[in-house]
Amino acid sequence: MPGFAAKQIADWLYRKEIQSVDEMTNLSKRMREVLSMDYEIGLTAPASTARSSDGTKKYLFKVLNHKYIETAYIPDKDRATICISSQSGCKMGCVFCMTGKQGFQGNLSSNEILNQFRSIPEFRNLTNMVYMGMGEPLDNLQEVLKSLEIMTSEWGYGWSPTRITVSTIGLKDPIKEFLEKSRCHLAVSLHSPFDDERMRLMPVQRTNSLKEILDIIRGYDFNSQRRISFEYILFKGLNDTHRHVKELARILNGIKCRINIIRFHQIPGSPYQSPGNSAVIEFREALNAKGIITTIRSSRGEDIGAACGLLSTLKQNTGKE
Ligand code: SF4
Repeated sequence: MPGFAAKQIADWLYRKEIQSVDEMTNLSKRMREVLSMDYEIGLTAPASTARSSDGTKKYLFKVLNHKYIETAYIPDKDRATICISSQSGCKMGCVFCMTGKQGFQGNLSSNEILNQFRSIPEFRNLTNMVYMGMGEPLDNLQEVLKSLEIMTSEWGYGWSPTRITVSTIGLKDPIKEFLEKSRCHLAVSLHSPFDDERMRLMPVQRTNSLKEILDIIRGYDFNSQRRISFEYILFKGLNDTHRHVKELARILNGIKCRINIIRFHQIPGSPYQSPGNSAVIEFREALNAKGIITTIRSSRGEDIGAACGLLSTLKQNTGKE
């Protein structure tokens, strides 16, 4: 095919929202036939939807032979955020995570990643995208980078990278590659500033220590164009003390960042407990007093299983959602 056909195809795929190759009417009939032999548009509708009373929706998409992934749609005042998955299950084994308990089923292709964005009914209203659903995005970096390129290129969906955040537990080499190749925001799951405690929560700490990740992050420039934030799931009586606040302030010293506190959502079979509202607010105030901008992520969709992985686990195990 001539080179200019690539631009025409991208235009049909990402701007004109077609459903079949046949609709690419500025390509010759022969070209459409050739394309149709090897390719399809790749859109798959959600298999089911759970609706929360707060407006949040969770979509289940079928991938990889009868496995299900979750995608959340979260409207909030003038924002509408989509939270997408990058893997089916996850290898990382974080002990507080329902997706981690599923084990790893497979990487999603860039098509399966972007289909979550393109195939929910609210896709035209979306303002923000976060890679915070099932899986560790940097463990599927090449497909994630491909999806980011399509999202942010002029020939693709044309989104500003400042509307997209990729969340990771911190993997040394992939984090460098991500920071070199993408301008999107980065969020790192921290959860404890103490090595032994973090290791008990997140086995990844053994091979990718927080210190090594913070050293890498210190080598990059974060500003209003590209933000770094740290996610901190607060567990009752575990990582919510003044000692933690003091150590967080020490290890994050010199990094222009913010902390997002997430109240732990109870999952079946977990010994960890959610802290009360006052403990969450107290922790935020203590961090703010140390000069770290800290916000509390509001809990959304609690009535439909806010913890990521709950719905897909139920669907996989019982066929219900
Ligand atoms: S928290 Fe993220 S990285 Fe850890 S097991 Fe769950 S999905 Fe994987």
